[in-house]
Amino acid sequence: MEKTLVILKPCTIQRGLIGEIISRFERKGLCLAGMKMTWLTDEILSEHYAHLKEKPFFQRIKDAMSVCPVIVCCWEGVDAIHVVRQLAGATNGRNAQPGTIRGDYSMSVQENIVHASDSPETAAIELKRFFNDDEIFNYKMNNLLALYAND
Ligand code: GDP
Ligand code: MG
Repeated sequence: MEKTLVILKPCTIQRGLIGEIISRFERKGLCLAGMKMTWLTDEILSEHYAHLKEKPFFQRIKDAMSVCPVIVCCWEGVDAIHVVRQLAGATNGRNAQPGTIRGDYSMSVQENIVHASDSPETAAIELKRFFNDDEIFNYKMNNLLALYAND
């Protein structure tokens, strides 16, 4: 089992898509291990997007991520990091495959609905960045046999 971080970006909250996007992860068979609403600060966004600090759009994405609160989620499942990245789709919503979240809901590279951790290393760092230990819940859903059989 892996855990991964998903952030429902301000564009998702503003467009009234919270339930719809959470449903996509639920329907896939991922287990919600943590969820909260939080207003991201410039400090945490600078850390979160440090890999983009030389880009001309660095300040713009930080501003966009703090126009309103976001919803941070921890999703759990077998290969959850890869599965969630696949569900999210390509960064640019206009290039993302139909059927993916970004492909179905986004027309933008910046306003692309969700953040999703891109590797086990980043998932571990990002979950620590946004959640305290006691905000992540370890429990088993009773559908595991139906979801995974003997995988
Ligand atoms: P992701 O892992 O697919 O989210 O993509 P990155 O880690 O490369 O970029 C982080 C976020 O920065 C993306 O989700 C976009 O919201 C934003 N971003 C990436 N590239 C661009 C760009 O060229 N222009 C703008 N305005 N935002 C971008
Ligand atoms: Mg990324």
